[in-house]
Amino acid sequence: MTTPKEVVNYDELDSSFIIELKKMVGDEILACFQCGMCTAGCPSAPFGYNIRQILKLAIWGFRNELLESDFIWFCTECGKCAERCTQNIEPYKIILGIQRLAARQGNIPLTVLHRIKQFMKSGRVVEVDELTELKRERYELPKCDKELPESVMRELEAILDMTEFRKSYKDRVSNKDSGDRNQE
Ligand code: SF4
Ligand code: SF4
Repeated sequence: MTTPKEVVNYDELDSSFIIELKKMVGDEILACFQCGMCTAGCPSAPFGYNIRQILKLAIWGFRNELLESDFIWFCTECGKCAERCTQNIEPYKIILGIQRLAARQGNIPLTVLHRIKQFMKSGRVVEVDELTELKRERYELPKCDKELPESVMRELEAILDMTEFRKSYKDRVSNKDSGDRNQE
């Protein structure tokens, strides 16, 4: 990802990116005045993820730098940035829009694909492992089923088919596989 220390070549910026993004997430991104309150409270910030900088890069038109970056996937969707924003923006929703644009061109990290696969299989994005069960037992919490109830899974499958989510996932995985093979 581009850092503020690098020299910006304005000819390489893509002004159509912010127009495309605004269609998806609305105009509110333009109200960001870079105060940094969102980044100051973001739990992913210690890992080098900078939500304030991402919004700036989006407004400037750094399309490829954002859509090809793994950083945009560091958001946990905790919503803290929205609570702290001085401009009443919901920054994480803008990140979701950027992720959707990245996914459309096949840029989804393998860790995210793994979570999607897990979600389609069990209805959970994180597998319930034995350690989790042991911890729950210690705090006298009920056992956590590895899979959601059958009726909920059927409902989930219907939604995944209706939205073509499953088909889209398969396309992405096969594109990624062939892309990885081409790079070998
Ligand atoms: S929702 Fe994402 S960007 Fe916002 S504070 Fe949480 S991790 Fe950071
Ligand atoms: S808190 Fe809001 S206005 Fe401030 S940098 Fe973050 S998104 Fe922009």
